[in-house]
Amino acid sequence: MQRRPPWLLIGALAALILLPGPTLRLLFGLAKGLSLLLLLPPLLAGVAGLAGWLWWRRLQARIKQCPSCGIPTMNTTTCPACGYSFVGTTPGGGDKNAPIDVQAETLED
Ligand SMILES: [Zn+2]
Repeated sequence: MQRRPPWLLIGALAALILLPGPTLRLLFGLAKGLSLLLLLPPLLAGVAGLAGWLWWRRLQARIKQCPSCGIPTMNTTTCPACGYSFVGTTPGGGDKNAPIDVQAETLED
């Protein structure tokens, strides 16, 4: 079997020697395009994963646990299992805007 000379490689080398500027620019362009193609799917997967994670966190933040029976629910007014009313209760333990009662006191010993 007769081997054909690698004309493509020879042509590329000749182009590189004769026209280094445009050939290198073309090669770098190709490499950039290829690396972009290789990097894009993992990048998109990462963005999708992050979006999914944020969505899950927001969903979890909306879920609250019934203080009466303990089941998690997204219903904001009453518990679907036991009928406990959430109105008037603050989720997450404590009102953040409530003023803190501080009393100054001198200790004497
Ligand atoms: Zn309940």
